[in-house]
Amino acid sequence: MFSVVKVGGSILRSTEDYVKTAAELRNLIEEGERFIVVVSAAKGVTDKLLKYLNSSSKAIDEVKEFYVNAAREIGGFKLVKRVEEEVSRVSSIQVKYGSVNPAICDYVLSIGERLSKIILRGALDLVGVNSTELDARDFILTNNVHGDAEIDLEKTEPRVSKLREFISEGVIPVLEGFIGSSPEGFVTTLGRGGSDYTATAIAKILGLEKVYLVTDGPGVYVANPSIIKRVEVIPKLSYSEAYEASLHGVKRFNSKTFKVLLGSKGIRVYVGEWGKFSTVIDDNTGDEGPKIIATSRDESHLRVSIIGEGVYRAKYVVKAVSSLRDLGEHVLGLNVNYPRPSITLLFKDEEGANEAVLTLYKALLKGDDT
Ligand code: ASP
Ligand code: MG
Repeated sequence: MFSVVKVGGSILRSTEDYVKTAAELRNLIEEGERFIVVVSAAKGVTDKLLKYLNSSSKAIDEVKEFYVNAAREIGGFKLVKRVEEEVSRVSSIQVKYGSVNPAICDYVLSIGERLSKIILRGALDLVGVNSTELDARDFILTNNVHGDAEIDLEKTEPRVSKLREFISEGVIPVLEGFIGSSPEGFVTTLGRGGSDYTATAIAKILGLEKVYLVTDGPGVYVANPSIIKRVEVIPKLSYSEAYEASLHGVKRFNSKTFKVLLGSKGIRVYVGEWGKFSTVIDDNTGDEGPKIIATSRDESHLRVSIIGEGVYRAKYVVKAVSSLRDLGEHVLGLNVNYPRPSITLLFKDEEGANEAVLTLYKALLKGDDT
């Protein structure tokens, strides 16, 4: 049995990070794991490409510089040439986001992942891992909602099944996350954080047991670590809790990552860093009760949400509301999102919302009633 390893952009900040990542992948192979690699763009690259689409030509130069450097350091002349060719195709397009065809925008955004894949493959060569570079556009078929495409699981299945052949021959397939192709044959993107979605969709299609989402922290924190210092990582979530968390902004997960798993059986998603995947997401609903306090924003409110199976029950709602008694005037309202596993409190200001996170964390997650 093999797995999917998704390499997140947060751990790809320099050329050296690509080599480190390749070495970690080699370690996994030495431990007996066999897997498909799904790779994100390097950190900050997608944001820069969006800036480029908003008419910043400097942004595309920065993307080019990063990947050309990496290509030079890792693979030499041939790799540099490939990177330069890809970038020049993009930089010759006169773009203004919104004013150009959405398919062209997706084409521009797709080079972040495409170049990242080329570099990672070069790094795998360097550390002696037998890998092959595949084009996600040939494997991941989507609808034509550019910028937020959904993977067509049925159409994708026969394509993705071919990945098994590489694994059985001892070759590691490397493909881009975040991108696919539309029925019209244009490149599509899956929305921010979409690489994770590529990884879980592949696992779902192939019935795999394990997906590793490799990121720059030990897992999913129970509350925003910038509000609560030394906050714990949640060891276990159900698919529906993870889906709910993604809807409330946790870890900027793309919600389709977990939506695609709802109702599945036997796929375990490990979130964390190399050697320390402290959060496991699976089909087991486990214990009822609050697990995560999340913060997000809509147009007019700050939202603080309590996520966990069964938290819409009166006893949890009462406990949450009574713990916030002293914050009375800051609280604007309460949504019980039944039958989804969350409740949401609405705040008018950040001060109140942050205070509420702290209070709820103590009252609901630490069992402290004071
Ligand atoms: N590079 C894309 C993003 O930043 C996709 C991903 O990283 O998952 O949103
Ligand atoms: Mg990214």
